[in-house]
Parts: sequence; C-alpha cells; structure tokens
Amino acid sequence: MKGLEAFLVTHRHRLVWLHAAMAVVFAAIGLLLGVFSRLGAVQFAPKNPVPGGDAWTEKGVCPTMIDLPRKQESRHCIQCLRCVNPQARGALEIRLRSPGTEIERIAHHHPNIAEVWFLFLGTGVALGGFLWLDFLMISGFMLSVMAAMTTVLASLTAATARLSGRPFAQVGYLFAPVAMVSLVVGLGGMLFQPLGPWAGTAKAVLFLAGIVWSLWLGWRVMAPCPPLRRLLALIPAAAGVVAVAWGWAPAPFGG
Ligand code: SF4
Repeated sequence: MKGLEAFLVTHRHRLVWLHAAMAVVFAAIGLLLGVFSRLGAVQFAPKNPVPGGDAWTEKGVCPTMIDLPRKQESRHCIQCLRCVNPQARGALEIRLRSPGTEIERIAHHHPNIAEVWFLFLGTGVALGGFLWLDFLMISGFMLSVMAAMTTVLASLTAATARLSGRPFAQVGYLFAPVAMVSLVVGLGGMLFQPLGPWAGTAKAVLFLAGIVWSLWLGWRVMAPCPPLRRLLALIPAAAGVVAVAWGWAPAPFGG
C-alpha cells in the first residue's frame, strides 16, 4: 500500500496529464455517441411534455442535467433509466420512433457545429485505424487520414450547404448513418461471426443500407428546398457518402 502511495506521489504530475488526456478522449467519444444516438429508434420522452424545447437544470434525477419535462432530443441522454417510472405522471416513458427522425428534423433539435466536425474527424480517424494495422505507424497514419477525410467531407458539405441554402451545421449530419454503419462493419467484425457463411452478406446489406439511409437523410434535411435544387445539392453530398463508403469497402466486400 505504501509503495502505491509513493508511486502516486512521485508520478502525480504525469497522472494529472493522463487524467486530462483521458477526459478529452472520453469527451470526444461522448460527443460522437451523442450524434449517433440521434439516429436511434428508442427515445425517452416525457409523458406530460412542457413546450419550449430542451433545457438543462441541476434539479431533478437526470445525471446529465436534462430538464425532463422539456426533453425532446437524444444527444445528452445516456439511457440510465433513472427517469423512467411507470407509476409517476411526471416521469419519462420509452417510445419507439422511426430511425433518423431526429436528424431529419435537425433544424428543430439544436444542430451543433461541434458535433458535425467530430463526425468528420471521428470517421477519418477510425478509417485510418481500419486501413493500417501496424501499431508503430498507426498514430501518424490515423491523423493523416483523419485530416484528409475531414477536408473532403467539410468541402463537400460546404458545397451542399451552398447549393441548398441550408446551414452547414444541419447538412453535415447526413453522414451519420454511413459513418456509423461503416464503424460497425469495419471494426465490429466479431459481431458478425455467429452468422457464419452469411456474415459477408449481412455486412454488405448493412453497408449498402447505411449509404441509402445517408442519402435519404440528406434529402430530408434539405426539405425546405425545391426538389430540383435539392437534387443538385445532393450531388456533392452523394460524393461524400461514396468517399466514406469507398474507404470502408474492404470490410464488407474484402477488396
Ligand atoms: S435516461 Fe437517464 S440520462 Fe436519459 S433523460 Fe432519463 S435520467 Fe436523463
């Protein structure tokens, strides 16, 4: 025990830095998971909602300080179930919704430019890790792919935003499905092992579904535009979706 105390005292400065670095990493992961939770089919919603949109309060049972009667979004909910109580009228209940609904109506659910940037950065860094497996070289390669992918996605999102007249911070969410599905297919190979010979087919179907879903979300997010302008704006968006899919294609198709 004394040895442990001496170690902690001796290395306390390094431990502070390690703690800070881990806090940054977990904050980044939390932000990315928050984006993907917006796609989810399960939502915790107030039985008696109060209008006015999402707000935060230190009073109440929610560990992420969501003002429960005003809850509409998913991104800050960690699904701890503390607020779910079948007997209490003021509690939340579990509801099913069409996957992606929150992003389709992102203009009404606090689009956040930081979430969009983290979506681009997270997609790039994960792709870098997927494509390169040498541990010694992996960090530099991951950062390079992250920078390249972020540049491509940001440029194409800017073009889509300009053509559609919709804000960058709303249009960028369209990449969430293809990014999420690519992560599952590319890095979650073990999840498919129980399917045996059907694993490759299941990956390919999921992968193609992610591409179609992203394009559909793009179409919906730009809903206020006339159809022809939307079609035109969808071209750079589709190029971005293809760029993400192309990077991950070896996972489902083994190419
Ligand atoms: S499930 Fe947990 S995190 Fe989500 S709203 Fe309820 S209390 Fe808050």
